[in-house]
Amino acid sequence: MDRPPGFADTSVTILKGVASRVAARLQRLGIETIQDLLFHLPSRYEDRTQLKPLGAVEPGSEVLIQGTVELSEVRFGRRRMLLTRISDGTGFITLRFFHFSSAQQKSLARGVIVRCYGEARRSGPDLEIIHPEYQIVKTESADIIEQTLTPVYPTTEGVHQLSMRRFTGQALHLLSQQANRLPELLQTASCQSMNLPLLAESLHYIHRPPRSANIRLLQEGKHPMQRRLALEELLSHHLSIRQLRKRGKNNISLPINDASKLTADFINALPFSLTHAQQRVIDEIFSDLGQKTAMQRLLQGDVGSGKTVIAALAALATLRAGHQVALMAPTELLAEQHLQTLSKWLRPLNIHISLLTGKLPAAKKRDILSAMASGESQLVIGTHALFQEDSKFKQLGLIIVDEQHRFGVHQRLALREKGRLGKFIPHQLIMTATPIPRTLAMTAYADLETSIIDELPPGRQPVETAVMSDAKREQIIQAVQKACKEGRQVYWVCTLIEESEALQCQAAEVTAELLSEALQGLSIGLIHGRMKAKEKDSVMNDFRRGQTDILVATTVIEVGVDVPNASLMIIENAERLGLAQLHQLRGRVGRGSTASACVLMYQGKLSANGRARLAAMRETSDGFEIARIDLDLRGPGELLGTRQTGLLQLRIADLSRDADLLEQVPALAAEIEAESPALVPLLIRRWAGDVMGYGDV
Ligand code: ADP
Ligand code: MG
Repeated sequence: MDRPPGFADTSVTILKGVASRVAARLQRLGIETIQDLLFHLPSRYEDRTQLKPLGAVEPGSEVLIQGTVELSEVRFGRRRMLLTRISDGTGFITLRFFHFSSAQQKSLARGVIVRCYGEARRSGPDLEIIHPEYQIVKTESADIIEQTLTPVYPTTEGVHQLSMRRFTGQALHLLSQQANRLPELLQTASCQSMNLPLLAESLHYIHRPPRSANIRLLQEGKHPMQRRLALEELLSHHLSIRQLRKRGKNNISLPINDASKLTADFINALPFSLTHAQQRVIDEIFSDLGQKTAMQRLLQGDVGSGKTVIAALAALATLRAGHQVALMAPTELLAEQHLQTLSKWLRPLNIHISLLTGKLPAAKKRDILSAMASGESQLVIGTHALFQEDSKFKQLGLIIVDEQHRFGVHQRLALREKGRLGKFIPHQLIMTATPIPRTLAMTAYADLETSIIDELPPGRQPVETAVMSDAKREQIIQAVQKACKEGRQVYWVCTLIEESEALQCQAAEVTAELLSEALQGLSIGLIHGRMKAKEKDSVMNDFRRGQTDILVATTVIEVGVDVPNASLMIIENAERLGLAQLHQLRGRVGRGSTASACVLMYQGKLSANGRARLAAMRETSDGFEIARIDLDLRGPGELLGTRQTGLLQLRIADLSRDADLLEQVPALAAEIEAESPALVPLLIRRWAGDVMGYGDV
């Protein structure tokens, strides 16, 4: 007999009410299968298990009430509205609608019983609910009431909350009838000794908690039923990373011998000597490069610690051993800058370098792609265009990814596959300035070895940081003027909370205008994400050469930009940025030997949390310390920030909330691998998808 497909392979279109249009909308929420729907958990709950007598309703509370319509009338004030008064013998309350149809008006006739849910508020001496959710109740069902807490789902335009509830209701029904289509996978001895609830049981509970459930725990995502799911998810990611790592061990590379001999002349010619930390890290990298298994190394070093020269050394060794190198940066601006720095260092050594970004004219791109494929181009610097569609290398020996917090585990893997040559895969060096919390390191980076540059080049002066209200703008502008007169250069960074790039650019344009007016005689440059690559290039070059005094910028300059003479930075709306981002931005100054300063401007009144965060920036410049404080100051349930969570696509678990679960994960994973290896691919597939490429085998 044929077994029915698992819920992971069953489309939501089998549900009543899910036609293709609705299915497309659900897809926006990442829901395509019945399993996806079951893993789409409520974001909060409402208690509709008890009818509140009208006489006992408190203003400000969310309540379920029921009463008989005494009076419905349309009133014409400033706005037309429908007022419906209901009573239940203990009191009365008014329902107020601003938007209503005539059918609605008719249905709320005198004598009809309505049940509503909403927030009661005071209106003069009486109570009212504005736009309650309501339904007309037939007399015979007036006593039938919800037996479970009501889930409220994250949803999307065009999918009503009630529809979401109907869909999950159907999915739960299927689950109770055909449990084997979503099998239980946590059955090892320790899982059993932990008394974990079964998967199906957890799902039923979380989607429809009994009225006795601890609603507070549920809202915080800390209920044992939720933790059961989070644990399974974390376990699955951990297993997938262990597998990647194991697989990585079998990956043969093109070993690069004598890397330090190959690069000795370069090191001697540098205008500075390497710090001890840089030297140590280089030794670690060179030792990896000499192995027959491919290097998988994460290089962490605070902003300004000198990672670029490390990249150059690793690249040069690889190039001189006869292989190609790809260097990938997260932004075009940074790619351009790397091109400049590395050209300065490596072109004299006869290395052929090219730049590949998405915005190149087609003909130019074709030329570069063919130079990459023929091997003529030795070092290729670019954005992710490097690894897209038609790009091909002749013999790629090393991939370097700069500021990698924007690339996830799986992208990293895809990237490596791109460079595969038969059984050989390229070495990988991933560089980041973002300190990685330990919990994240245990998951998202568990497949990598780590090197740390824990020392800044000598002579750096700490960046003096001030926190100032926007009201002191005049004073700040004067300070800018003074700094420029002393020959210093200034960044003025415009930020907006809106993610909209257009608005950010507009704000920067306006600021540049205003500053030009206020600071006559100074030269002001403007750079933002909407400019053409060429324009950005020439603006950056002017600034680098000291031809502009002030560079007004959006957060495009956030990562990597290196202009040592710039020693003052003003950041607008600093209170709205994450600490990690502020740290990155501030890292653009303090790169030369002049004392540098950074002004964090804020608007309006700071919240207590805002004040604490900016104070932390003022008091420390240590990226690791800042990352720790950032985690501390985040409220419970708040995510690690999209950029970081983007590394691991988690549906349910939250790395900061569920940090304690992560501690249990490695041992459990090892046990499952040993006792029930057959479960491993099932777990990985369920949560992490087809990341292992099982589909290809
Ligand atoms: P990051 O780690 O933020 O990428 P960079 O590689 O951009 O830092 O280096 C910051 C600046 O420090 C650059 O101007 C670089 O040339 C300089 N630098 C790097 N290493 C040293 C060193 N050992 N001594 C002095 N200056 C150095
Ligand atoms: Mg850098």
